[in-house]
Amino acid sequence: NDIAMIIYDVTDIDANRKALEKANDEREMLSLTDRLTELNNRGYWEDCLMQEFRRFQRYQTASSVVMFDIDHFKQVNDTYGHQAGDQVIREVARVLRENLRDTDIAGRYGGEEFGVILSNTDAQSARVFCERLRKQVAALEVEHEDLTINITVSLGISQSDAGTPAYTDWLEQADQALYASKQGGRNQTRIFQSSE
Ligand code: GH3
Ligand code: MG
Ligand code: MG
Repeated sequence: NDIAMIIYDVTDIDANRKALEKANDEREMLSLTDRLTELNNRGYWEDCLMQEFRRFQRYQTASSVVMFDIDHFKQVNDTYGHQAGDQVIREVARVLRENLRDTDIAGRYGGEEFGVILSNTDAQSARVFCERLRKQVAALEVEHEDLTINITVSLGISQSDAGTPAYTDWLEQADQALYASKQGGRNQTRIFQSSE
């Protein structure tokens, strides 16, 4: 009986250790990963963008950052409910994931806003990526409680530039291009053009 107890204790310790490891893995995942979409979360994605910007400053090979946002998303929530809205966000993230190469880094930047880092990719190649994504999202039929929801996205691209002071400016440029897409009528891609 004593021997059985000892064996039991050891097994128990081992089980505890495994449970602890699993919990730690999950905690680590949660701090880097957005729960709804399983994309990188904003904080981690921005860290990656900072790294990519540093790499660009060192080696000068162009990369592009893309920001995109679901059009009239508030209407989706208002018309179909928040659950349907969540479903739409998940499906957009899925389509995004299907279009990524191994070196691309995608994140959920805000509620219905996403960011993508395309390393070794100039603005024209980034546009090809964006247009493919845009068309696939526009063709998407999100099923929710016997209803079909259609949505579009607007996208903005900024290619890394030696004149850009910080990664935050690089991101801001993609955001300006995204804003121009919204102003231009949505469901489109724009590339940031520096004024000089
Ligand atoms: P625009 O075409 O200019 O982007 O208009 P919009 O309606 O998409 O933009 P707006 O910023 O006015 O609305 C975004 C909405 O997204 C508001 C917010 O309640 C909703 N939202 C943010 N996060 C989530 C989320 O995780 N789930 C759901 N269902 N809604 C969210
Ligand atoms: Mg929106
Ligand atoms: Mg938005």
